Amino acid sequence: MLYTENASSFQLTTSQKQYNFSAGPGILPQEVMEQAAQAALDYEGLGLSLLEMSHRSQPVVELMAEAEQLVAELLGLNDEYKVLFLTGGASSQFYMVPMNLLNAEETACYVDTGSWSTKAIKEAKNFGNVAVLGSSKESNFNYIPKGYTIPEDAKYLHITSNNTIYGTQYHSFPKSDAMLVADMSSDIFSRVFDAQQFDLIYAGAQKNLGPAGTTLLIVRKSILGKVERSIPTMLDYQTHVKKNSAFNTPPVYPIYVCLLTLRWLKKNGGVTAMEKINRDKAQLLYNAIDTSEYFEGTAAKEDRSIMNVPFVMKEDQYTKKFMEYCAKHKVSGIKGHRSVGGFRASIYNAMPKTGVEYLVDLMNNFKL
Ligand SMILES: *Cc1c(COP(=O)(O)O)cnc(C)c1O
Repeated sequence: MLYTENASSFQLTTSQKQYNFSAGPGILPQEVMEQAAQAALDYEGLGLSLLEMSHRSQPVVELMAEAEQLVAELLGLNDEYKVLFLTGGASSQFYMVPMNLLNAEETACYVDTGSWSTKAIKEAKNFGNVAVLGSSKESNFNYIPKGYTIPEDAKYLHITSNNTIYGTQYHSFPKSDAMLVADMSSDIFSRVFDAQQFDLIYAGAQKNLGPAGTTLLIVRKSILGKVERSIPTMLDYQTHVKKNSAFNTPPVYPIYVCLLTLRWLKKNGGVTAMEKINRDKAQLLYNAIDTSEYFEGTAAKEDRSIMNVPFVMKEDQYTKKFMEYCAKHKVSGIKGHRSVGGFRASIYNAMPKTGVEYLVDLMNNFKL
């Protein structure tokens, strides 16, 4: 039985006093945090904290290799791909992607689905031509633009698979003859998809994978080494491919917490099982929003995210009251992003169905 079907597993412990709906850093499985805490004190009985162990030591080399292998296994990647754990956040990938893939006279295509895409577009302009094929900016990014054509000379198409702030998500990915690149920071491992249709995927760990401090990068090795510019060593993907993410000192502890989460994911049925639970959770919450007399959703229904669920009060003057009600009932991180307002419940993999049921109960019981 999956742990998420067991209501008692989401009782708050003394070390965790809040229901965490934060968009990021997001909720992690309780057992992962307990194992991480133990490793900070004594890593696997070796008499050393993982925090003080060399990245060249055998146990650390092994844990990094296992994390890499589990990512490949859970996403069904073949050996044309390399899995890296980098630093600098997803935000550093906004410039590393074009730096490594785009020559100055070439054109990269982007779809603008909100703040994160907008930032990625800004950085790409430092390295080559950028064509924005679609944007939902005019309606505060509440839908995913569709129906554009990708120019034949496009070097790559960049999308943001899930828009953490606006709660929109691609439910089918564009078909592209050009290389396909995705920022999957807030929905990687949340659902089944064909990872091999992508040439490069990146994700800051702190949404749905682990703590802040490392960025997952998945790259088809054959696309590297093809640009003319000279790339600083640390910013060249090839450096990290050759050295298995340990060219310099990697963020071992965050990578270890990612590994613990990946083990948890595998043990609980992998991405297939996660997707099923995530869809149940999202449906439960959207249904509560759609049938409520007080709340309404902000994203176009066909593009609604199963990870980040923004909603507002039909009458804004009551927003504060529901916020206080949430705080009183130990609901944390539910305040909406300032560009949407209202509320946002992030229901990442580690949020069990019982947590969503708890929130839905609160919403249903809320009275003005
Ligand atoms: C949070 C987020 C980012 C930024 O991640 P950092 O690791 O803070 O740089 C980028 N893209 C998406 C989709 C995000 O949700």
